[in-house]
Amino acid sequence: MHCSRQRGVQPEGAAVSAAGMPQDAGHQSTRLLVIGGGPGGYVAAIRAGQLGIPTVLVEGEALGGTCLNIGCIPSKALIHAADEFHKLTQYASGSALGISLQAPQLDLTQTVRWKDGIVNRLTGGVGALLKKHGVTVLSGWATVLDGKTVEVRQPQGAPLRVSCEHLLLATGSVPLAIPDTPFGGSVISSTEALAPVELPRHLVVVGAGYIGLELGVAYRKLGVQVAVVESTHRVLPGYDEELTRPVLAQLKRLGVVLHLGCTVHGRSSDGDGVRVRSAHADEFALPADRVLVAVGRAPRTEGFGLENLHLDRTGRALKIDAQCRTSMRDVWAIGDLTGEPMLAHRAMAQGEMVAEIIAGKRRRFAPAVIPAVCFTDPEVVVAGLSPAQAEAAGQDCITATFPFAANGRAMSIESTDGFVRVVARRDNHLIVGWQAVGRSVAELSSAFTQSIEMGARLEDIAGTIHAHPTLGEAVQEAALRALGHALHI
Ligand SMILES: Cc1cc2nc3c(=O)[nH]c(=O)nc-3n(C[C@H](O)[C@H](O)[C@H](O)COP(=O)(O)OP(=O)(O)OC[C@H]3O[C@@H](n4cnc5c(N)ncnc54)[C@H](O)[C@@H]3O)c2cc1C
Repeated sequence: MHCSRQRGVQPEGAAVSAAGMPQDAGHQSTRLLVIGGGPGGYVAAIRAGQLGIPTVLVEGEALGGTCLNIGCIPSKALIHAADEFHKLTQYASGSALGISLQAPQLDLTQTVRWKDGIVNRLTGGVGALLKKHGVTVLSGWATVLDGKTVEVRQPQGAPLRVSCEHLLLATGSVPLAIPDTPFGGSVISSTEALAPVELPRHLVVVGAGYIGLELGVAYRKLGVQVAVVESTHRVLPGYDEELTRPVLAQLKRLGVVLHLGCTVHGRSSDGDGVRVRSAHADEFALPADRVLVAVGRAPRTEGFGLENLHLDRTGRALKIDAQCRTSMRDVWAIGDLTGEPMLAHRAMAQGEMVAEIIAGKRRRFAPAVIPAVCFTDPEVVVAGLSPAQAEAAGQDCITATFPFAANGRAMSIESTDGFVRVVARRDNHLIVGWQAVGRSVAELSSAFTQSIEMGARLEDIAGTIHAHPTLGEAVQEAALRALGHALHI
């Protein structure tokens, strides 16, 4: 176990801890104990350290959690590598740009090594930041004994008991399995899909949500035959149909085979495929030497004594209030453990807030919007209400769309598919939502979120000079169009 002697845990033998609690061998105390070193937990610990709160963070696997090790970052690295390979493959058969080259080769081991290098740089950086801010990091699995005591099982040595004034639960989430097709062998989750030793010939992806599509497209671009099986009749079923249409079109162009309205019911009897059932109850088999199950994630609530606390739940997630307090005093919860939206930036914002509340600041979690991005091809961004959601909320809204086909920058990067859409109140033009689909639109998410958070009206965006030529001009043009005087369409 790595147990650095910093501000969090008092050295053994010290009579009284910084938090004023007695210490003895194998039993330490601190003011804040964080379980889980993902984006929620590590951000909470860094902020607590900055605020002078003695803090211990316990992590059973690797600092950075799902996000840095097996989620956001490695998936985006793999997607980038696949995009580059695919582009070169296309150039090998000629290009309108006048570029020609030989067919590219892929050294998968090196690709994975490069991806791991990014992960290691980031997780190492998290460790350094925690150290810099005086946080004690304990490597080991924590078991909750009561609301103020946790036992840490170290890889070597005796278990350590840590008591605390505040317990922050940030244990994240785990991939959901499907009946009849349990994880194991060639049935994998996103974790294994992000660290391939070799590429399969036929990959079946179960679930057309963002994780399934991001990884399915990346594998397809690396040359794998990919089929996606989705129980609803849409890809990205959480997003509106107009927004996902360009993604659907690109999946078809790439040759990803879609089986919508279908479910997977186990491996086929020869073991070389999966059995699929359609909405009409027809059964058929799909070849699959690997099956990626990406049907969602569940809060990680089991295996670490959480049940000892009898905390209130909302479904499988821990129930929290607007300050991330659970139903037990001084026990807090953040991130995926607290349910949807399971996004790293939400976990981080909650973690920062909890540290500030413990330090005595007045805070509540009331963001105007939490943006979401699908790093599909093309990318999809949503922030705030879609036209249908605004209508369902009883708001009378104006909606306007500006297509990238009319944007010079989009043409110059060969990415005219997609659009930016704005949703604003009809009475006072307050912007309540933005959506976009297109290449690199993930980078527009900051502008979308800031405008809503700052209470911008259509006139504010329309009257702001946007640099030319950029994709951002489509944001301004959407606002202009909502006001009835778009300039470039
Ligand atoms: C493939 C994939 C791609 C994703 N892409 C994105 C994206 O692009 N953008 C985005 O915003 N989100 C993305 N996510 C979601 C994002 O990773 C999560 O929302 C985020 O990591 C949640 O942070 P967290 O701190 O709540 O939990 P986690 O990151 O899951 O961290 C929890 C940590 O707690 C540790 N832990 C659990 N129990 C114990 C215990 N008893 N003792 C000690 N340690 C324990 C775990 O080992 C883990 O490290 C993606 C997820 C996946 C799987």
